Amino acid sequence: MVTPESKAAVDFCYEGDPDLLPVSEARRRIVAHVPVITDTESVALKDALGRVTAEDVVSSVDVPGHTNSAMDGYAVRGADLPQAGTRQLKVVGAVLAGDRFEGTVDEGTAVRIMTGAPLPEGADTVIMQEQVEIEGERVIVGAGHRQGQNVRLAGEDLRRGDVALRKGTRIMPAELGLLASFGRDRVHVLRRPRVACFSTGDELRSPGHARKFGAVFDSNRYTLFGMLARIGAEVIDLGIVADNRQALNRVVKEAAERADAIITSGGVSAGDADYVKETLEALGRVAFWKIAIRPGRPLAFGIIGEAAFFGLPGNPVAVMVTFYQFVKPALCQMMGERDPRPTPELTATCVSKLRKKKGRVEYYRAVLERDDRGKLIVRSTGKTGSGLLHTMRDANCFIVLDDDAKSVEPGTEVKVQPFFGLV
Ligand code: AMP
Ligand code: MG
Repeated sequence: MVTPESKAAVDFCYEGDPDLLPVSEARRRIVAHVPVITDTESVALKDALGRVTAEDVVSSVDVPGHTNSAMDGYAVRGADLPQAGTRQLKVVGAVLAGDRFEGTVDEGTAVRIMTGAPLPEGADTVIMQEQVEIEGERVIVGAGHRQGQNVRLAGEDLRRGDVALRKGTRIMPAELGLLASFGRDRVHVLRRPRVACFSTGDELRSPGHARKFGAVFDSNRYTLFGMLARIGAEVIDLGIVADNRQALNRVVKEAAERADAIITSGGVSAGDADYVKETLEALGRVAFWKIAIRPGRPLAFGIIGEAAFFGLPGNPVAVMVTFYQFVKPALCQMMGERDPRPTPELTATCVSKLRKKKGRVEYYRAVLERDDRGKLIVRSTGKTGSGLLHTMRDANCFIVLDDDAKSVEPGTEVKVQPFFGLV
């Protein structure tokens, strides 16, 4: 692993309010501290989806390998195309995709050709079959064609020696296909990050067990599993840890030895049973532990040994907000992604009234949709309690109100982060 900035050069102490850190500064600190994985492995192409390339991947061949036809039609010589009127060409053979035409297209002749078939020698142009008339063994070609039309040149997609994928590219469906297109069946990728997860709280029970009075089923570990799986992390499930200094200490130590990142939820605020921050302080270094955000104000970030530590809040919605806003970008950096895809962001007209406090970033759960005229509108899901996980089920986006934004009246344009993406 390599750390982006020398640890010695990093100032862990925030100059302003020591407790409440602006979101932008929290992001900067994460970028400055999160280490990048350098271990690599070779994987089969069919297992490569979501992985990040460990080297520039170079095409060993031209794609396409041969100049070929983009249409079903007739391969002709450009010099035979009539400037005006028509011209008759004698059809001397046919070629299908995967075949080779052994002869040449001489002056005054044409070869019947199918899409993808290699262009016969002598020909440099294809005329669509719909644009000719057939008379026995001849085709009649009119004016208006262009030399070179309907032809795909060898190497037009990729040339032999071209860098098809740069180091640090996340392999998505197009990248998988591109690798296959020049015949690669394995690819060198960076090791997946090992992320240790546990929930803290004496009240927590795992699903599948009986729920006693006052107990809460541990949902955070499951939303976290889902979010981590989606970005391609390997999860080390450390279960539920009681609100107890010794237990926390022991589990965090173990996690720091086994994992590249540790994610906990709960126990990070200033309650009587909140020991996460002091555990981080005891075992590593705290970069921040409170940010000017809602929901998600208590969020501890630091480094323990070589592992990045994220102490997320306990409330289930706050876990998801802070994961998407801070942990996900950090893990993308850790995974070696060179140009992480930017968080999708668009503007829509808000039809709800939203209260906003200055000096913090607020994330509202909301539904983005089109009105009758096709205009994008967004409305709050209503209740804003950060324990109400059903609001995340109902939402398909966040409305983001930045530090300096004021309360929103219906009809105002707002910034929206959609949950969904095309690819
Ligand atoms: P805490 O920050 O530990 O005080 O937790 C804040 C709230 O989130 C409390 O109501 C907890 O019961 C709840 N909570 C904490 N962890 C979880 C979890 N893993 N699953 C569901 N709710 C949780
Ligand atoms: Mg707790």
